[in-house]
Amino acid sequence: MATNPGSYVEIEFTSDDHRFRRFFVCFGASLIGFETGCRPLLFLDGTFLESKYQGILLSIIAKNGDEGFFPLAFSVVDQETKDNWTWTLTCLKKIISADRTITFISDRGKGLMLAIPGVFPTSHHSYCLRHLKMNFREAIAGKFSITIRKKLLQLLDAAAYGLRIEDYTRALAHMHGYSEQAAKWVEDSDPNHWANALFSGERYGEMYSNCAESFNSWILEARNLPIVQMVDHIRVQMMEMMYRRHNESSNWETFLCPSIMEKLQKIQADSRGLQVRCSFEVRGRRNEAVNLIERTCTCRRWQVYGLPCVHACAAVWKINGSIHEYCSHYF
Ligand SMILES: [Zn+2]
Repeated sequence: MATNPGSYVEIEFTSDDHRFRRFFVCFGASLIGFETGCRPLLFLDGTFLESKYQGILLSIIAKNGDEGFFPLAFSVVDQETKDNWTWTLTCLKKIISADRTITFISDRGKGLMLAIPGVFPTSHHSYCLRHLKMNFREAIAGKFSITIRKKLLQLLDAAAYGLRIEDYTRALAHMHGYSEQAAKWVEDSDPNHWANALFSGERYGEMYSNCAESFNSWILEARNLPIVQMVDHIRVQMMEMMYRRHNESSNWETFLCPSIMEKLQKIQADSRGLQVRCSFEVRGRRNEAVNLIERTCTCRRWQVYGLPCVHACAAVWKINGSIHEYCSHYF
């Protein structure tokens, strides 16, 4: 903390014999980057350390404007428990701004399900769809034919990705038709934490916690080292990554980050041919109402993904506006 200004470290040890207990670190550069450039979205995951001292690394990862993972903080603990996550998140809470409501994305690990609302009561917690599907697959294993199992998984996807309440209820009604038991499992698995139509936080279309998992595999080599060397190895890796990204982005010629620009261009291409009526009623497969001031569309894609939908693109084109002004400043 003395030599790397703005960084935050906590080390805990046992009071009787001063043995190492747990460690939290957030480098100053990560904190500034998260607060000024990243969406209020954090991916959480735990991974095993491979050195002879073992232990677990709990990582807290953000995403930059160009969709790359952006390490914010991590801790070293003995096990992935509610207590260790609570301690880690409490350290985090001391340093991040309270002005933004955070959306956390993680698996449905019991420790996290309890620790997140305990430390950040106003935050939102999104359950990773990949983990949910894995649990669902286990729940329906051996009970149905392959064809039915495949259908049930497709319906789970439809329930998760559907943007409107009617999309979710339609998928569930279908599922009830195939199996009451499977539908009940889905209804009992807190769909308000994973279904787009029911989720109340902002997650910019992120359904998976794989950002944190990417970080964990990125530091595979460091995970073989003793803790102090590991932290320094990760620090150097992060420094090199930020330096590389800084150089690359200084050559960007697009107004938005390139990967977002590419997505937006596809949406704009799809919006061609849509008819816009004066009050920004856009005629597509069905009529949608776009509100450019509130940045909403009745299709809900804009609200859920944070990028203008085809209807919004058509409406902006109609007023000769610049679509970039309607994209989140994080992009
Ligand atoms: Zn729309």
